[in-house]
Amino acid sequence: MSTNGTKEKNNNSRKGYAIAIAIASIVIIALLIVIITMPKGGTPDPSPTDRVVILSPVATAYVTENVTPAPTATEVPATDVPTEIPTETPTATPEPTPTVVPTPPPTEVPPTEVPSHKPRVIDGTTSANPAYAGKRLVALTFDDGPQLGATEFMLDVLKKHNAKATFFCVGYQLSYGPNGELATRAANEGHQIGNHSYSHPSFGKLSDEKIIEQRDKNNELIKKLTGQDVTVFRIPGGYRSKHVREVIDLPIAQWDIDPLDWKFLNEDYIKKYAAENGMSYDEAESRLIDIILFEGLYTDLDGEYIFSPPVAYEMKHGSILLFHDIYPASAKAVDRLLTFLEENYGNFVYLTFDEFILTENDTIDAAKIYYSLWRTTPSD
Ligand SMILES: [Zn+2]
Repeated sequence: MSTNGTKEKNNNSRKGYAIAIAIASIVIIALLIVIITMPKGGTPDPSPTDRVVILSPVATAYVTENVTPAPTATEVPATDVPTEIPTETPTATPEPTPTVVPTPPPTEVPPTEVPSHKPRVIDGTTSANPAYAGKRLVALTFDDGPQLGATEFMLDVLKKHNAKATFFCVGYQLSYGPNGELATRAANEGHQIGNHSYSHPSFGKLSDEKIIEQRDKNNELIKKLTGQDVTVFRIPGGYRSKHVREVIDLPIAQWDIDPLDWKFLNEDYIKKYAAENGMSYDEAESRLIDIILFEGLYTDLDGEYIFSPPVAYEMKHGSILLFHDIYPASAKAVDRLLTFLEENYGNFVYLTFDEFILTENDTIDAAKIYYSLWRTTPSD
């Protein structure tokens, strides 16, 4: 018993010793693990959340998707997270820049006066004259010249487009030799020369004698320079009255399309527009021509209301256009307009005033004011 008791005692001691060694080993191993895994310097490993915060948005997005558990919304603002990592940005070509000219800011458009920009050219409305079947006939008219440079440029444009026109010349312009030669050239190239008075006075203030003098002095000059007998008159400033019409005793040509080139395409206005918009002169000129032809105008640079519909979309069979051949920009506008109409319609024909009226009338009436091929005062 005693031996057994001793053995039992020794066994118990060995068991206790082994257990102690095992516990000590576990503790040592545990300590070793702790020491090995402890980072240098003792700084705790940043949490995944901290790592997200210090990374760039791109990396954050990547980490968010691939490393960390779903972050809370406040940690990663959605607006800062690109949907793609930059290197994966598709290389597809960007959408082309629209070639459509932007519309003017809303502040330029009076709210009660928003015109339609829909073309008013109506298909099927063409000449009633069988010789011009399917054609839209238009009278281009040019006032206040001739003038060196501008008129020359206009004649070149008309030749390029095979267009005939009517030049309402002023006597004092014609009396300067080089300008007079341009009237001669215009007549030789098939254009009509109309009378726009000798010195461009206001006819409302003139006596009948002065009106007749303004007419006759210029008629003689035109005849001398061009060989043409004047058959049409345009009163300066578009002034008209029954009495003046009767005194002049020539058919009077008005117009139904007015691009306001005298206001928006003169050199001073183009310079002002260029300065206010940070453009070169050429850029401003080109932009203003586009506005006049394709967008229309609502106010001038000073904010004064002045409505002019887009000329290119007003063009129709029977129209009379009013331009001025004293601005090079007007010649450029005519060039662009005729090019546009050729490319988009292809059936406009440009005739002198007399040819134009006579396509659908037997005579041209000296008692009438013509606004278009079909609209006159007094009306039929
Ligand atoms: Zn004039």
